[in-house]
Amino acid sequence: MLQIVSKTFFHVLAGSQLLKSAASRYGMRGRGGFARRFIAGETVDEALAAAKEIQASGLNITLDLLGESASSMAEASSATRDYIGLMESMAAAGVERNISLKLTQLGLNVDRATSVDNLRRILEAAATKDFFVRIDMEDSPYTAVTLEVFETMWQLGYRNTGTVLQSYLRRSEADAVRMNELGARVRLVKGAYKEPKDVAYQSKVEVDAAFVRIMRILLAGGTFPAIATHDPSMLAATRAFALSGGIPPANYEFQMLYGIRRDLQADLKTEGFQMRVYVPFGREWFPYFMRRLGERPANVGFVIRGVLSER
Ligand SMILES: Cc1cc2nc3c(=O)[nH]c(=O)nc-3n(C[C@H](O)[C@H](O)[C@H](O)COP(=O)(O)OP(=O)(O)OC[C@H]3O[C@@H](n4cnc5c(N)ncnc54)[C@H](O)[C@@H]3O)c2cc1C
Repeated sequence: MLQIVSKTFFHVLAGSQLLKSAASRYGMRGRGGFARRFIAGETVDEALAAAKEIQASGLNITLDLLGESASSMAEASSATRDYIGLMESMAAAGVERNISLKLTQLGLNVDRATSVDNLRRILEAAATKDFFVRIDMEDSPYTAVTLEVFETMWQLGYRNTGTVLQSYLRRSEADAVRMNELGARVRLVKGAYKEPKDVAYQSKVEVDAAFVRIMRILLAGGTFPAIATHDPSMLAATRAFALSGGIPPANYEFQMLYGIRRDLQADLKTEGFQMRVYVPFGREWFPYFMRRLGERPANVGFVIRGVLSER
């Protein structure tokens, strides 16, 4: 219940322009900016520095150039160019070749055909440089279209891409079976948005139970699935299922978000599992940041302490 209230509250705040401009002034200021715990920085150089540091500790990375809901074709094509530039910078810096992006960033809610073209340009550039491109999953109005676009790319022969399924969505078990049939790589998450109950489970018990069911589908019959969670009971369920099925750690990976449960990230690596850290960066960090607050109200205390200590 508390979780639903919290998600709703932060979902509403995320739409506030006033809060956004106030937060933007302080959040990333200096090394101590309160948003820096979750966001690697605003520039490519800051993201590359964070990526190198993470890789030096033996973990893998994926870089996410923050941005969502481009409101014009110009914005969408600028995001597309930025992603292509990002891949060039990553290749030049020698960091791992893995990025995550959102289709609305490429113009999905402006013009679907243009966003598909933009994605194709990114996948082409990615293929020539041996990058993997993860298409993040957004809120439920975009689920079907995201999976359709993903499947179109797959049928066109792009194999350097994968997508995300959210266990809170009632449809996701069936989608996992479909992705296994394709042989496509899936990242499994619980889901970060506020969703209505006809499309999504509302209680943690149901979301967790679905996570375990889908994790099993993906581990048993999928292609290098990514189990993305900070929840110790989901991690334990995954490890137990893999062990009992003789599925070696080389066949799947765990993923966690930048700045969250760094202790678990390191422990899993030490125990011989593969761990990828999702590293978000960029000027458009506010909606991402608000979703992280909504997941864990205790983070608000952390932010307030950060703001107060800046004065
Ligand atoms: C690599 C990665 C990629 C993701 N991509 C997507 C995506 O494409 N689409 C999408 O909808 N969602 C995405 N998410 C977010 C995901 O859906 C969840 O909202 C988020 O991971 C929290 O769920 P949880 O599995 O960690 O479990 P929860 O039950 O929410 O949390 C379990 C425990 O993890 C810790 N924790 C969780 N969140 C936080 C936080 N914000 N701050 C501090 N501690 C925290 C706490 O200790 C908490 O008790 C992604 C998550 C990860 C790790």
